[in-house]
Amino acid sequence: MGELDGRRALVTGGSRGIGRAICLELARAGASVAVNYRAAAGAAAETVAAIHADGGEAVALPGDVAETEQAAALVKAAAAELGGLDILVNNAGVTRDGLLMRMSEDDWDAVHRTNLRGAFAVTKAALRPLLRSPAGRVVMIASVVGVMGNAGQVNYAASKAGLIGFTRALAREVASRGVTVNAVAPGFIETDITASLTEEQRAAIRGQVPLDRFAAPEEVAPLVRFLAGPGAAYVTGQCIHVDGGMVMA
Ligand code: NAP
Repeated sequence: MGELDGRRALVTGGSRGIGRAICLELARAGASVAVNYRAAAGAAAETVAAIHADGGEAVALPGDVAETEQAAALVKAAAAELGGLDILVNNAGVTRDGLLMRMSEDDWDAVHRTNLRGAFAVTKAALRPLLRSPAGRVVMIASVVGVMGNAGQVNYAASKAGLIGFTRALAREVASRGVTVNAVAPGFIETDITASLTEEQRAAIRGQVPLDRFAAPEEVAPLVRFLAGPGAAYVTGQCIHVDGGMVMA
């Protein structure tokens, strides 16, 4: 028996990186999982194959969360494929880094369209099925950068800080219906997003991490599983860090 047996989960951006690890973790705990992706159909298919190989249930679903109609269609397809929805993980995220002086409106908008408005569009569409669930769960993947800031990422930091505010407001809206809403703030995780950092940048970041290393995506996923599961029924409106101690509050 898994703690998420019978639960149905949609993970946006589940094809690679942290989202992939979350899909595998939720499926291992017994959930059936809709693995969303925007462009990397091959990677999404590989994630689904890995879940099947593990004895789990999963389906790959395309959809760009930055496009409201696609976000709504994605949720509809996930609920239809899985027979309802209990868990939503808003993980899809992008960066377009640069100093504010040189940042274009397009860099600002592109990051917000996926990271914040995408979460808005998907969550709004998912709310009805989540309210019908006996234990609806929403988990936002924010970032330590949304809390402490990072030079060269005003667009990204603002989108992630926005997600944390979104989490707290929605937690209050839906608490009476038994739906919990929490955020996870990862620190620096080894994925395609961090792959372009130079050795110098990596050393500077490690200097701010008490545990003195980057983490693997598999080190973020267990907290998401916990927040999605029965053990977290009394946890809502929280932003919990998986950041090696970068932020201690
Ligand atoms: P990643 O390896 O680049 O993967 C990003 C995922 O998001 C991919 O599955 C991608 O799909 C999907 N995606 C991007 N834009 C999308 C859109 N508009 N619609 C649907 N899917 C979209 O990134 P990651 O490092 O795993 O990051 C995952 C989340 O964690 C993001 O929200 C990121 O901000 C957050 N985070 C990451 C770190 C870190 O250090 N890596 C730290 C803190 C927070 P395709 O494969 O189809 O492109």
